[in-house]
Amino acid sequence: MNEQFVKETRQPEYLRKLDKEHYFHPTTPLKLHQENGPGLIIKEGKGIHVTDVYDDVYIDGVSSLWNVNIGYGRQEMAEAAKQQMMRLSYGSSFFNNSNDQVIQLSEKLAELTPGNLDVSFFTSGGSESNESAFKIVRHYWKLKGRPERTKIIALDLSYHGVTMGATSATGVREFDHMITSSAPGFLHAKPYLTDCEKGDKSQPDYESSIRGIVEKEGPETVAAVILEPIQGVGGINIPPEGYLKAVRELCDEYGIYMIADEVICGFGRTGEMFGVDNWEVVPDLMSVAKGITSGYMQLGAVLLKSELRDELAEMSDDVFFHGFTYSGHPTACAVGLKNLEIIENEKLVQNSKHMGDELLKGLAYLEEQHQVTAKSRTAGLLGAIELYADRDSGKAFDPSLHAAQQVVEECLSRNLLLRPLSFGGMNAVALAPPLIVNKGDIETMIDRLSGAIKAFENKVLK
Ligand code: PMP
Repeated sequence: MNEQFVKETRQPEYLRKLDKEHYFHPTTPLKLHQENGPGLIIKEGKGIHVTDVYDDVYIDGVSSLWNVNIGYGRQEMAEAAKQQMMRLSYGSSFFNNSNDQVIQLSEKLAELTPGNLDVSFFTSGGSESNESAFKIVRHYWKLKGRPERTKIIALDLSYHGVTMGATSATGVREFDHMITSSAPGFLHAKPYLTDCEKGDKSQPDYESSIRGIVEKEGPETVAAVILEPIQGVGGINIPPEGYLKAVRELCDEYGIYMIADEVICGFGRTGEMFGVDNWEVVPDLMSVAKGITSGYMQLGAVLLKSELRDELAEMSDDVFFHGFTYSGHPTACAVGLKNLEIIENEKLVQNSKHMGDELLKGLAYLEEQHQVTAKSRTAGLLGAIELYADRDSGKAFDPSLHAAQQVVEECLSRNLLLRPLSFGGMNAVALAPPLIVNKGDIETMIDRLSGAIKAFENKVLK
């Protein structure tokens, strides 16, 4: 290719035209894309910043899709991938084969995860991890001679991914509007009904609780409960003290498997290595992805307690007919190992906790400054602030105003990338910067967000 051609095809307007013609974007309003072309086209990233094709530099205040935990452009990561690609770019783990990288990563995960979650099954992302977790637990109950034990209970406002089972488990309704039918056997409970989960039948919402559903359906039909330790896409919903423990005890009482979806929370995002560590709860299975490589490669895993694997192995001589071509991809695993080394060496989990406290202070300051803001919350560097037409009475903005979206657009014009979360009638702005942020970065983010909220207030409060 001649240099002139390469230069021309990188011209922003030309890229926009090609994008519109040829790129079917994920999780995007297709009509808007066809009318206006793509939004940001980024070309570079370094630390907490990304640069677009017009050379504008932005703070990435949500780590892309809450996944670029160690920040962009790390040489060591590129070097790990290069070295592994030169040594062994790919190797299958089917038919009992293995490679040195996947073995080392499995061991590392066993060390980092709580309790006896010591065995890893690898995937290429979060949806595949949850899908695998569902299949593993259903397979288990089938081998146990309990094939009717298939139901999976998830929470309203949960997000578990977009493959068939993961979408069916997802409790954000918008995600299954596009499909004509969900996979059978997925049920949804109201989140955070701690007293109900502890068995208080006098509570008005009892029937909508996990316990209420288990009792109605019959525990002998329930395979597993899945929940995010802190709900991400559904609004950064942090469970009240005692909730996860109550669910753990409920699962133990009925012999139901507890699956923690740590796809966002895992690897330091919430100020602990895993979200469940905030409450010292150990699930039976744990889905991870995103932060396992900080987005440098596609990788996910399901962690299982070793007894579960042992029982599965004992109960059948057959092939476990579930695996992805890229399960245990050696280059992805090498990149994952380097990422975990960076997280540990740079004490990023601790930084997440400390900077999360700074972020909360910043959000509290915004609540002082802006009458439309309320309900600030953080767990490490996973946080949100909500917008209300009248915060004292809890009156929401008219949905047609797209309040959170407007504030996020104002942030964009101030070179700060944030994310609106507007499911279930909420208008929240999510903040989840890379775990490498410092106090100055947080101050800049809060400053820009404050300017954005001010501009929004000027528009809507007359
Ligand atoms: N679970 C959770 C909690 C998630 O936030 C996501 C992605 N946002 C997924 C699962 C799905 O992961 P992936 O997009 O990698 O399939």
